[in-house]
Amino acid sequence: MEKKNIDWSSLSFAYMPTDYRFVAHYKDGAWDEGKLVKDACCTMSESAGVLQYAQTCFEGLKAYTTKDGDIVTFRPDLNAKRLQDSADRLLMPQVPTEMFLRALDEVVKANAAWVPPYGTGATLYIRPFLFGCGPVIGVAPAPEYEFRMFVTPVGPYFKGGIKPLRLLLSQYDRAAPHGTGHIKAGLNYAMSLYPGYVAKHQGYAENMYLDAATRTHVEETGGANFLFVTKDNKIVTPKSDTILPSITRRSLVYVAEHYLNMEVEERPNMEVEERPVNYTELKDFQECGLCGTAAVISPVGEVDTPDGRISFASGMEEMGPVCAKLREVLTGIQMGEIEAPEGWIRKIC
Ligand SMILES: *Cc1c(COP(=O)(O)O)cnc(C)c1O
Repeated sequence: MEKKNIDWSSLSFAYMPTDYRFVAHYKDGAWDEGKLVKDACCTMSESAGVLQYAQTCFEGLKAYTTKDGDIVTFRPDLNAKRLQDSADRLLMPQVPTEMFLRALDEVVKANAAWVPPYGTGATLYIRPFLFGCGPVIGVAPAPEYEFRMFVTPVGPYFKGGIKPLRLLLSQYDRAAPHGTGHIKAGLNYAMSLYPGYVAKHQGYAENMYLDAATRTHVEETGGANFLFVTKDNKIVTPKSDTILPSITRRSLVYVAEHYLNMEVEERPNMEVEERPVNYTELKDFQECGLCGTAAVISPVGEVDTPDGRISFASGMEEMGPVCAKLREVLTGIQMGEIEAPEGWIRKIC
């Protein structure tokens, strides 16, 4: 298979249509088989549930070329499960795991020429999504749905080195108690555009959101979960029902508990605490990282709050050693350089 003529390492994180996408329809209580199509446009009723009442949810994962030249994906069963949880909360039909994984295999294989080669730092971003395409006018779930999965090559997230980020403690809330913060719904992103604009306009990379009920506990940013490292080398990650359960964060926690000190036998692996994190504790942490599929883990150097600036001990110059090690091991697992835990890697071709 001949690769597309692309300068892989200069790609950014932007949409580029590729040759094939997978499309399936749900009607009269059942999914059709679904198939690959070449058309990058969706056609639907002007009164579609997604257009009128934002009935849509999505996933994001990547395909990698390993050092042996295989094309693989990382824990896609967890994306299938999370899309089902999102569908339930939005009264949409679940996409069966079997269909999700079949779509994934087919769409990545059909677009193999677009999968960036090993060593370029680029990857193939995969976007599965589900939306109400049947007409509604009264507020109600749509009568018909479309499940779609497209792929687009994306460049290395950190070009020209990894620099720590500066965050703004947001005066806006991301997710209400008992709301939709725990699912990957498009509506959560629509409402975060304005706070995101405010933060970027003031020179910040992202917002740090607090829990909406008490505004005392750290939740996450608009699209990534937090991991903190304490001064005595423990990992702390916020626990809350209104955080989106990041697959990257869950995987990094596993790496910390099982891989981090493998090479030094007398040292135990890292301890991880998942618990509420009061924002007044931030000043006591050594390192702070943001976890998500796009960047794996990005270092945070500072957070500006109404009570002043909080600087993590790892500083604004480089990533702290624990975040760097976590990143090295997880990307090593994804690229086939380090043996993966059972079931984490799905080989496509
Ligand atoms: C997608 C997402 C994440 C990251 O999840 P991953 O599974 O690691 O990609 C974190 N927070 C929010 C709000 C998200 O939508």
